[in-house]
Amino acid sequence: ALGDYDDNNIFARILRGEIPCTKVHEDKWSLAFHDINPQAPTHVLVIPKGRWRSWADFSAQAPDAEIAGYVRAVGRVAKALGLEVPGYRLLANAGLDAHQEVPHLHIHIFGGKPLGAMLS
Ligand code: 5GP
Repeated sequence: ALGDYDDNNIFARILRGEIPCTKVHEDKWSLAFHDINPQAPTHVLVIPKGRWRSWADFSAQAPDAEIAGYVRAVGRVAKALGLEVPGYRLLANAGLDAHQEVPHLHIHIFGGKPLGAMLS
């Protein structure tokens, strides 16, 4: 199993307001902000506010309202960014093999150009 949630990870610090971010959406359950090192013209991260690292734990243990609130935020942000028609890509890196850098659950939204068949 993965280790305990690290309250000093960078997204926890962003949630506490200790590190600034360029916010695009915030609600009761989630926060969305621009990635500091964008890999596409639009590159936004959507995170739940809860202390979750693992998708297995989040999906199994989070209250339904939190899961629903988070999923709704992802779709809402993509639409608000104007990506619904041109299209976009959602990506979540989970764990070592996927090079998850920040141990707080997050979804990347990429868009703003044709993205090719897959990200490497
Ligand atoms: P991962 O590899 O964990 O899926 O992606 C983490 C993402 O967080 C990377 O795309 C990285 O650029 C972004 N990131 C890391 N530190 C910060 C930060 O302090 N602020 C913002 N806005 N993004 C960050």
